Order: sequence, then structure tokens, then C-alpha cells
Amino acid sequence: MTSVSFSNSKYAIVGGGLMGRLLALALAKGGAQVDLFDKGGPDGAHAAARIAAAMLAPLAESAITEDSVVRMGLYSLPRWKQLISELSNSVYFQQDGTLILWHRQDASDADRFAAHLEKNCRSNSELSAPQKLSAEALRELEPGVADRFNQGLYLPNEGQLDNRQLLNALESELKLLKVNCHWHTEVDPQELRTQSCYQTVIDCRGTGAKESWSAGDKPNTLRGVRGEVIRLYAPEVKLRRPTRLIHPRYPIYIAPKENDVYVVGATEIESDDLSDMSVRSAMELLSAVYTVHSGFAEARILEMATQCRPTLKNNLPEIRSSKDKGLVDLIMINGLYRHGFMISPAVLDCTLELLEFGGSNTALELGLSVTHNNIQVETVCA
Ligand SMILES: Cc1cc2nc3c(=O)[nH]c(=O)nc-3n(C[C@H](O)[C@H](O)[C@H](O)COP(=O)(O)OP(=O)(O)OC[C@H]3O[C@@H](n4cnc5c(N)ncnc54)[C@H](O)[C@@H]3O)c2cc1C
Repeated sequence: MTSVSFSNSKYAIVGGGLMGRLLALALAKGGAQVDLFDKGGPDGAHAAARIAAAMLAPLAESAITEDSVVRMGLYSLPRWKQLISELSNSVYFQQDGTLILWHRQDASDADRFAAHLEKNCRSNSELSAPQKLSAEALRELEPGVADRFNQGLYLPNEGQLDNRQLLNALESELKLLKVNCHWHTEVDPQELRTQSCYQTVIDCRGTGAKESWSAGDKPNTLRGVRGEVIRLYAPEVKLRRPTRLIHPRYPIYIAPKENDVYVVGATEIESDDLSDMSVRSAMELLSAVYTVHSGFAEARILEMATQCRPTLKNNLPEIRSSKDKGLVDLIMINGLYRHGFMISPAVLDCTLELLEFGGSNTALELGLSVTHNNIQVETVCA
């Protein structure tokens, strides 16, 4: 789904993090009038999207998530390329695969991980099989870590982007398209539903939508899963691609951005706590990153940040649409959990189909749950 017409329609989008900005842009490009509301500013200060590492890693994530999310991730990779190429401002995007490393004592965990991914590749032919790297192959692929590791696993085709550049580029594009962006404006989507100027109100509030998801006949629990990341400036380290360390207690990733900046993360704690990073988390992340490359010892800490991943009961994303007498239609999009960047182009296209046709073939194909007044939408649209 690339170009859809929404002219003569007016939409309100509540939440201008990742999903809200992508939707606002697509609708405005389709000719709609869009009002976008966010309780934070254009920098995304209250959005999980600002803190994320923004890795696009369907194979690596297949170790811990459902096939539907993996399929959404595979669908989204080429869509990201397209979406980014259409923006006026450049956004760093890379698709050079993921490197998996482990220390000698964790070899059996690494074997289990590799076997798991191989099994997933057998059941999904779109996934590219992981490649075992000898010491020489590792040196060729990622010379910066070859002194400390003599083997690795390479997951081809995986990607990443710069989340903050993306948020900025989307905001600029929204301005160009004359989207009415109401920053620093906290609103309740239910109140907007009483304003008949809108065709549909779209709720993209991430963890801010907790109460709405627990209401109604089919309540779903929306929770936050706390994640802490550290941004480092490390000119002595030359890592070319996202690198994950398999470790029984401190599994970390290192996502290289432009200009020698590395995002190191992330803790995963079942809590809505948005307070500053704990000493324990900081010590774990920093000591683990140093075991990957000694150059991190001289890195400068740019930022230690915390945010919560918006997560539904089953850890899967969901789109809910509601029509209620006397109120403007509502669409709620949530549960992007730790995969928001990986899957948002798929969720975007499904939402656009839902708005245009009342159902989404793409959602059916990918296994994304779409409900209408609490009933699963099974109909195939035109
Ligand atoms: C530490 C961490 C690492 C991550 N790493 C990755 C990764 O590597 N790859 C990946 O794919 N995903 C990753 N994610 C997940 C990704 O960031 C989220 O899934 C994604 O940002 C969710 O998008 P969203 O638009 O639903 O919510 P958000 O991006 O959180 O945006 C929600 C917006 O709603 C606004 N809002 C809330 N309430 C209101 C209100 N009442 N009125 C107005 N505005 C409101 C907020 O201000 C916010 O801007 C990570 C997340 C975290 C926390």
C-alpha cells in the first residue's frame, strides 16, 4: 500500500510518537486534513520512540516473539527504505545485518540460540538463515571485535535506523504538508470524539492509553515494560552494524549510529517506572559493553535514558476500531512493545486499509489482530 486518497476527510491523531507521526504523514499525503496532538514537544520527549535503539531485526527477535511479529518485521524492512526515501530530510538507515557474539563460557547458550533461529528459518522461508562465522570471517566482517572473539553468528539483511533523525524528519515533513501539530497538548481521545468535524479519531498514545485499553467488554491490559539505554560517544570503537551479546545475565545490544555514537541497551523490567536509570543497570550495561570492545573504556557517556515499551497482555500489537452512536469513529493502535520500529510500516499499512476499506487484507496475511466493536475483523476488503 503506497498511495491512498483521503481527501475531504479530517482526522485527529492523539499521540505523536512513532505511530502517530507515521499515520499523520500518510493521511496528509493522501489529501486529508490532520490534527496531531502530543503531550510532549516535537523532540518526542515522552515517546518510547525517542529512546529506542531502532533496530529492525526480525530474525534476531524471532527467538523471543511470535511468527506474526516476525512477518510484520520482514514486510516492514523494504517499506522503511521507501518511507525514508520519500522524506525531504535524510535519515540514517542501514541494512547490513546483525552480529551475534558470546564469550567462550556462554557457548552452549549461543548454540541454543542459533538452533532456535535455524528452526524459525525452516518454518519461514522469507527469513535468511544465520551464518556461523569463523575467526577469519569475523575479522573480515567486523574487525573491531576480532581480538576478543574468535567466532560469531551473522544474521544477514537485518537493519536499523536513527530514531531521532526519523522523528525530526517526520516533524519537518508534517510541517511541509500543513498538518496542524498541537505539541504540549494532552488530550483525551474520547473528548475529541464529540467533535463532529472529525471523520475518525486515532489513538496512538502508547503507554498513555492504559485506561482506554482496560475499558469496555473485552478489556486488554496495557502495561509499560521499562527499558534503560545508554548513549555513548566512542570514536575508538569501530562497529559497523548492530551487535548483540549473548549473556546469561546481561544480554546487551550495541547499535552504532552516525558520528561514533552507540546506543547500548537495554534492560527489560516489568514496571511502569520512568525514574532515572539505576546504578545496577548502568553497571551491567557498561561492564557488558566493555567486554565486547575495550575502546568503550574511553567512551564518553552522552545520556542515560529510561522509557517504557507499550505492551499488551500477549505482547502483541493490536488495532481496535469502534463505532458508537453519536460519537466520531475511533481507532486505537497499541502494543508495539519492543518492536515498534521493526513493525510500524506494517501496522501503518494495515491501518490505512482499515480506514479505506473497513478491513485489512495485509493484517490478515501478517496475522495482526484487528477488531471492530470487539469482534475480530475477518472480512477480506475490496
Ligand atoms: C529502551 C527501548 C528500546 C527500544 N528499542 C527498539 C528497537 O531496537 N527496535 C524496535 O523496533 N523498537 C524498539 N523499541 C520500541 C519502540 O520504541 C516502541 O514500540 C514505539 O516507540 C511505540 O510507538 P508508539 O507510537 O505506540 O508509542 P510512543 O513512541 O511512546 O509515542 C506515544 C506518544 O503519545 C503521546 N501521548 C501519550 N498520552 C498522550 C495524551 N493524553 N495526549 C497527547 N499525547 C499523548 C506521548 O507523548 C508520545 O509522544 C524500544 C523501546 C524502548 C523503551
